[in-house]
Amino acid sequence: MSEAAARWTPPAVAVVLAVALAVVIGVTTPWHLIGLPPADPALDFTAAEIARQNAFRHELLPWSTTSWVLSVLVPLVIGFSPIGRHLYDVIRSRRWWVAVPLLVAGLGLLTSVVTVPTDVMAERVSRKYGLSVQDWGLWTRDRAVNWLLMSLALAVIAVGLIGLAKRWRTWWWLPAAIAGAVLVLGVSFAYPVLVEPRFNEFTSMPAGAQRDDFMKLAADDGVPVRDVLVADASKRTTALNAYVSGFGSTRRLVVYDTLLRDAPPAQVRLVVAHELGHAAEDDVLHGTLIGVLGSAFAVLLLKLLLGARMSDPRRTALLLAMIVAGTTLAAPVQNLVSRRIEARADYHSLRLTADPRNFVALHHHLAVTNISGLDPRRWRYWMFASHPTSPERIAMGRAWGDEQGTPVPPLVRR
Ligand SMILES: [Zn+2]
Repeated sequence: MSEAAARWTPPAVAVVLAVALAVVIGVTTPWHLIGLPPADPALDFTAAEIARQNAFRHELLPWSTTSWVLSVLVPLVIGFSPIGRHLYDVIRSRRWWVAVPLLVAGLGLLTSVVTVPTDVMAERVSRKYGLSVQDWGLWTRDRAVNWLLMSLALAVIAVGLIGLAKRWRTWWWLPAAIAGAVLVLGVSFAYPVLVEPRFNEFTSMPAGAQRDDFMKLAADDGVPVRDVLVADASKRTTALNAYVSGFGSTRRLVVYDTLLRDAPPAQVRLVVAHELGHAAEDDVLHGTLIGVLGSAFAVLLLKLLLGARMSDPRRTALLLAMIVAGTTLAAPVQNLVSRRIEARADYHSLRLTADPRNFVALHHHLAVTNISGLDPRRWRYWMFASHPTSPERIAMGRAWGDEQGTPVPPLVRR
């Protein structure tokens, strides 16, 4: 192939992928659902609830934020400085495909060790407030499994990219982009059966009126659900949650055992209706499609930034730093899209149950139990909030109730 083609194809493909990504995100994201009044925590949360929430976050956030900053800074400093190459030389394996995974695992371990003190402090705050109920054994085990899975995933990516770049010095990005897309597809499909069982045990929800009700709700909604699974979340936390993951034959509706134990049935029903909303709108599939395009785009960015240097295993730390920088910069966009998709699932749960009163009660209950931020700072909201805040969700429930002629009075009498 000509030199001009080798030179101009990557930027052209990058532009095409960026446009495709923007179009898919633009088309699959529900930008508008219903006109919303401003969120107002004081309508539904007592002064004591708001004070407890503020106190918790005041104690927690210095530690958790420091952990987050460190986990981003450590790989960036090592990767964008000569330290990364020196560390690679220290390993001194003659086989690059041995040295690269070792370096990846080592850097992951270093990052994990550096954040131990702040993570321990954050965990202690969570326990003090009764949110976390796990012991240090389980905490350490989760950390180790996390490190192992992350190292494995990043080692596969690094060895794959370097290997392809060694084989095809100019056109490595083409097979890499295709392999990346296939990998995202495979991981999204296999995640519920490969990764989730490493952290929790899942059992079929026992037969009974509540399970029958969920299956009927799913059938009414036109969403085929083969089973409702219960996760043993109570070994770690008192937080309430449910989710849908996988697609096709691995699609599953999972509820935390804490939710079944601690929430009134009418509220659990609304949570299930929210999750059915994700299934009905194929949110996992759309997310996967965005992931496929995003990973291909990321490969093209690497090609444009690194070029033939991709084949040099001494740049492994630089590659990791770029991955960390890329995922951190993408987070606000990801969260923006996620919040809109979550709002649509909320909207779906309102239409399916026609129960705005319990919807408001549920989101009040979730916020109090999970001690979630009622009015986080803007940068936190953009950087971390994958869901609308509880007062925002409650505002939607009210707007829907008003629209249907069933207004929901504030929970707090004033
Ligand atoms: Zn959701």
